[in-house]
Amino acid sequence: MDEYIRRLRDGSLKLYALEKELPPKEAIVIRRSFIENETGVPLDRIGDCSISLDSVVKKNCENMIGTIQVPVGVAGPVIIHGEYAQGSFYLPLATTEGALIASVNRGCSLISSAGGSDVRVIKDGMTRAPVFAAENIIHAKSITDWILTHVGEIRAEAETTTRFGKLIHIEVTTAGTSVFVRLSFSTGDAMGMNMVTIASAKAAELISKETGARLIALSGNWCTDKKPAAVNVVAGRGKTVMAGIHLTENHIRQVLKTTASAMQEVNMRKNLVGSARAGSLGFNAHAANVVAAMFIACGQDPAHVVEGSLCITTVDPADDGVYVSVTLPALPVGTVGGGTGIETQAECLRMLGVLGSGDPPGSSAKKFAEIVATGVLAGELSLLGALAAQHLARAHSTLGR
Ligand code: NAP
Repeated sequence: MDEYIRRLRDGSLKLYALEKELPPKEAIVIRRSFIENETGVPLDRIGDCSISLDSVVKKNCENMIGTIQVPVGVAGPVIIHGEYAQGSFYLPLATTEGALIASVNRGCSLISSAGGSDVRVIKDGMTRAPVFAAENIIHAKSITDWILTHVGEIRAEAETTTRFGKLIHIEVTTAGTSVFVRLSFSTGDAMGMNMVTIASAKAAELISKETGARLIALSGNWCTDKKPAAVNVVAGRGKTVMAGIHLTENHIRQVLKTTASAMQEVNMRKNLVGSARAGSLGFNAHAANVVAAMFIACGQDPAHVVEGSLCITTVDPADDGVYVSVTLPALPVGTVGGGTGIETQAECLRMLGVLGSGDPPGSSAKKFAEIVATGVLAGELSLLGALAAQHLARAHSTLGR
């Protein structure tokens, strides 16, 4: 140990290179010990972890020193009537926000008592949008024309890199001499960001070769990955999924202690008018709360909570009550790849019956998307109800502090 610490100190061994000389477990202990010495802070708790390290250090985390433990709880059971998710589910939520799981749990019991959520995936396409430079705007137009008349060739080239990625759509836009090509792929059960990035590199190579377009960046931000963007709201990214529930006055009174008209007014003035006035891209109460907690529990990329926050919540008048819906235009989810294989996260996915490849491929990720959307609906119902009944501050002072 001392010899490694000495080499790390004098710079003859790089912190990231420890795994080249040692098995992951020992490399992590030495790296942590070095950081403890450098910072003067003991890191025993970070070092206390139960996951297998071999694949995590290769695929998920460089310069690893341990793990952060995020408490995970369940909400449910909740009854779901999806195309893929059918039955009763306990939702795993990893969070440190007191009152969140209690709130989602209340929404779940409301959904179940009302017969279960309607939920459908209406669009599926993970995107990458390289940016190219043209010589002038005439060249930009000719690049665009070539792309739109050679979709088959671009598809064939891109799909050589993957068994599961299928190029389903190409959109081209320009700004002066910049040409942006938004490539949209179905990605089976993978969230697909690595898959489509690799496939897009092949497509970009062909476009450059055939048109003289200069590839500037494989991601030109018209994708748009991990930034709030109208293009994702309008065109979708990952799964576009909707969930809805019909609630009678009776259900609303019994579970939420409020009325259908109060819920409608809160939704209209807060989620719609308030969000518009704020210039928000999300028209919802707290969709990101449920997306974040389920993403962390289930090994999804937490930065994609940005896309998950772009939800629109509606409350329509309906027979003897209301029909409440959530539409998530951009939910990037997967049940293979990324963090899904880490044991603790894999257990959460297994709890939902969605770990790994679906049969047919893609069905597992769509089932998961339907379950997350139902969780978001549960969260929206509960918070709208609490606001309508003027119970929000009370719930947080009881449960959150
Ligand atoms: P991945 O683990 O890189 O790729 C999925 C792998 O699973 C592929 O090798 C695929 O085969 C294979 N596979 C096996 N069964 C499958 C099935 N039923 N459906 C689909 N694929 C199946 O995962 P990814 O989803 O593409 O990328 C996720 C990772 O990307 C996350 O860690 C995320 O944090 C990261 N990320 C990357 C970028 C980026 O720019 N690269 C951006 C954001 C996030 P094939 O090889 O035959 O396709």
